[in-house]
Amino acid sequence: MRDVRFPLAALPPEATSLRGEVRAFLQDEVAAGRWVPGVDTWLSGWDAAFSRRLGERGWLGMTIPTEYGGQGRSALERYVVVEELLAAGAPVAAHWIADRQTGPSLLKHGSEEQRQFFLPRIARGECYFAIGMSEPDSGSDLASVRTRADRVEGGWRLTGTKVWTSGAHEAQWFFVLARSEPLGEDRHAGLSQFVVDLHAAGVTVRPIQLLTGAAHFNEVVLDGVFVPDERVLGAVGAGWRQVTAELAFERSGPERFLSTYLLLASLVGHLARQADAGAVAAAQVGALVARLMTLREMSLSVAAALAAGQAPATQAALVKDVGTRFEQEIIEAAHLVAAVEPDPDAAPDSLARRLAHATLHSPGFTLRGGTNEILRGIVARALSAGER
Ligand SMILES: Cc1cc2nc3c(=O)[nH]c(=O)nc-3n(C[C@H](O)[C@H](O)[C@H](O)COP(=O)(O)OP(=O)(O)OC[C@H]3O[C@@H](n4cnc5c(N)ncnc54)[C@H](O)[C@@H]3O)c2cc1C
Repeated sequence: MRDVRFPLAALPPEATSLRGEVRAFLQDEVAAGRWVPGVDTWLSGWDAAFSRRLGERGWLGMTIPTEYGGQGRSALERYVVVEELLAAGAPVAAHWIADRQTGPSLLKHGSEEQRQFFLPRIARGECYFAIGMSEPDSGSDLASVRTRADRVEGGWRLTGTKVWTSGAHEAQWFFVLARSEPLGEDRHAGLSQFVVDLHAAGVTVRPIQLLTGAAHFNEVVLDGVFVPDERVLGAVGAGWRQVTAELAFERSGPERFLSTYLLLASLVGHLARQADAGAVAAAQVGALVARLMTLREMSLSVAAALAAGQAPATQAALVKDVGTRFEQEIIEAAHLVAAVEPDPDAAPDSLARRLAHATLHSPGFTLRGGTNEILRGIVARALSAGER
């Protein structure tokens, strides 16, 4: 069996002062009452004004080159900013997808016109994207998408239904994976990606309620939506290769183990205020903190490998599998040791409210971005590569 390594990575020296700046900014924002920290806010915390404030400070599009309006900084510096935003439970959902994966995809596959148009807007925190991959009968087996792209004069007409499209009710654009050639022997051939205006004629966005009652994702129906040639992303027919590269960015970040970090921090604070929290609680929390530190080293290692131009898909799959289960275990531990009744309507910064929201969001942790079973398949294939 092959082994999978996570070489230890060190953050660059400039990361320390950057971290301090981001922390101070976030503390000021909270002190000024601009937003209330929450759990899983990279899905649920949509705040366009906050995204623009981050853009003004140069903390969006950090790895986008300066000629496209970005900051031209390193992936590890971006990691520090992202880590601080997640740990603070900041409302980052508006720009999250654009900053995490749309920008890098446009840089890699986009035309010069697309880069000039979208990248500066993404870096300013003004342009928000959603992901149009999943369909009602196509999730894990993404190559089975049935959304059709028919060639017409000057572009394409898209027909089909996408589902679980996070943020589509608020975003301006989404990348749609569609079949641009009839299904042949090679299921991965004949797929293309399109940059679709969510306000174009023929697009219907229907929000789907989460267990909390809030709507963060949607069904998006495309009824003969016209997409001009200049909004095809990359090469026609190269959609599978492009989407696979995009998934590497989607799966590898620290949001795959930090969605409930704020709950862990609240739990520690809650227990610390008790005269005798007990040995069981101390052991539970100690084990969680130890795992957090290990996961963080693993995640940082993946970030460093990506920054060095490598493709650590197996390591990223492992971090997401272990990390999303860790997020859920924080919730289980909080239920077990906190003796607090979860209440979604309790005070915004209370443990009771954070526990309720985390519990209601948690079923999605191990599904979104590719289920853990699928990720384990990726890991198993990599470990046994070359073996019979
Ligand atoms: C909160 C949330 C946000 C999301 N946001 C988006 C978004 O913005 N855009 C988007 O395109 N999609 C989004 N998704 C969809 C997500 O990517 C899919 O739910 C996921 O890929 C699984 O697809 P599915 O739901 O169709 O389940 P299925 O693929 O039908 O899987 C059902 C079950 O069968 C298991 N299974 C399937 N195939 C295998 C196999 N080969 N081996 C072992 N087990 C298998 C799965 O692990 C799962 O447990 C989101 C999902 C959630 C929960």
